[in-house]
Parts: sequence; C-alpha cells; structure tokens
Amino acid sequence: MSTAFERVNEMFAEKREAAKINADARRRRLWRELPEIKVIDDQLMKTGSRIIAEITKGKDHIDERLEAIKVENLALNEKRAKLLVENGYPADFSREKYECEKCEDSGYVGLKMCDCFKKALYAEQYTESGLGNSMADKSFETLNVELAYGKSENGVTPRENLAEIVEICKRFAQNVKTKPQYLLMYGGTGLGKTHVTAATCKEAINNGASVIYDSIQNIVHAFWNDADSAYAKYMNCDLLAIDDFGTEFSTQHSVSVIYNIINTRMLEEKSILINSNLDAREFEKRYGARICSRIFGIFKIVRFFGEDMRKYFALNGK
Ligand SMILES: [Zn+2]
Repeated sequence: MSTAFERVNEMFAEKREAAKINADARRRRLWRELPEIKVIDDQLMKTGSRIIAEITKGKDHIDERLEAIKVENLALNEKRAKLLVENGYPADFSREKYECEKCEDSGYVGLKMCDCFKKALYAEQYTESGLGNSMADKSFETLNVELAYGKSENGVTPRENLAEIVEICKRFAQNVKTKPQYLLMYGGTGLGKTHVTAATCKEAINNGASVIYDSIQNIVHAFWNDADSAYAKYMNCDLLAIDDFGTEFSTQHSVSVIYNIINTRMLEEKSILINSNLDAREFEKRYGARICSRIFGIFKIVRFFGEDMRKYFALNGK
C-alpha cells in the first residue's frame, strides 16, 4: 500500500498534468480562431534553437546577438498579449492555471513544502487514521468551549473544565511522538469527548505522529477476524485513540484483546488515548482489577461534566 505522502505526491503530479493539458487545449483553440497567434507561437518556439545557433557561431558579439533575440521575443510576447485582449481574451489565456499559484501545484516553494501540500497531506492522513468524513469539521479551532454549560463541580464550571481539558489534550498531542503518554477521557454523552478526541488526533498528526483512531467495537472485531493484520494496524502507530470504550460486547475475548493492547503498547512505549462513557465504578466491574490497575495507575484521567450540549442545540437551533 502506498503511503499518504506518495498518494498526495501523485495527486499533485496529476494536477500539474491537468493544468498543462488544459492550457494546451486553450492554446490550440487560439490557433484555430486567431491564426496570427500560431505564427507568433511558432516563432517563439524557435527561441531555444536560435540561441544554440548563435552560440555555435562563436563568441564574437555574443551578448549583443543574444540580447537581440531577447528584445525580439519581448516584442512578440507583447504583440501576442495585445492581440488576445483585442479579441476579447485575457492576455494570459493560454498560460497554465494552477490551483495554487504559489507553488504552481508542485507542492514545493524552493525546497520548502507549500502550505497547500501540507493541508492535502494532513487531510489524507486524517482519512488514513480513521478520522473519516464525520470528523472533518472536528478540530480545536471548531470546538466552542463557550457552549459547555451546567452545574459547577468543586467550584469549577463545565466551561472552565472543558477549557482545561483542551489545554491538556494540546500538550498531549504535541509530545505524543517523542514520549509515550496515556490519557483517559470519560464522562456522559454530548459533552464534547468525540470532538476533543478527533481534534487531539489531528493535532498529533500535524505534529508528525502516526495515528489510528477507531471504536473499541471495530478493534475487538478486527482482532477476532485476523489477529496479525489487527496487530499491525493497532500496535505500530505512535498513537492509538480508542473511541467508545465500554460499549463493546463484553466477552473473555474482548477483555483479553483490551488487556493485550494496553499492555503491549505500554511495553513498547506507544501512546494511547481512550474515551469512554463509563465512570470509575463501571470500569472496575467491567474490566476487572488487571486492566483497571493499569488504566488508573498509569493513565492521566480527565472527566467531562455538565449538560449535554446537543440538548442546547436542539432547544436553540443550530
Ligand atoms: Zn502550493
């Protein structure tokens, strides 16, 4: 399978090729409709061979002779542009049109990766990570902390709590590749857990980490189906983000898969992010001491609280 980088590279090569093909088509249209342009273009196309011819003639007055060609070309280009405008075309009608004029769809400005390429690469990596279309709009920029509401706990409002969680997650995403980190987010539904999880994964990808995001049901199922390929998928990435922890059908198999994932990734010093609707007591009941001692002993734990933000939307519209 090709990497995200290779796929985006290919996509950009195709964009450039398309720009060239379209420009050629426009040029041929001009030649049909304005034969004078064809004469000029034929002349301009000879520039290279004319320069070579002048050079082979020897060094005498070479600068003047080359300058003469340059002046002639400039005049031809001006004449061409004027002809186009007089006939109702933009002066650059047959020039390649790129989506990004900064890098001309090459993806690079000099040796530096262009912003448009980075954006495309991240988008590709988000998809590859399992952050599909439903997560497209979920980033820290689009998370409105002000929408968190409800009763305070220990003098902290849900809004302050969510703002604090965002800061924790941003730090988590920053360091996830260089040092292993373990984070458990729990709390009721509609408090922003999925949004924060997706945003954290994206931020980690933007910081160069490889990320896999998936629901616990899919993960358990994958190990049941084909343990080797599941192992390759879920154990090698820098960060594994497990969504909906606790909603899987609980069996001996699911518990042993979960134990193995947590244990193996810890041994290999690879980060884990878990989000769950369960509270601490339900964790203990569901997973037993072996898993819980790892989670509660090693994971940083953050709790979401407040009122379901989706109820707010339902009442106020959005
Ligand atoms: Zn660009």
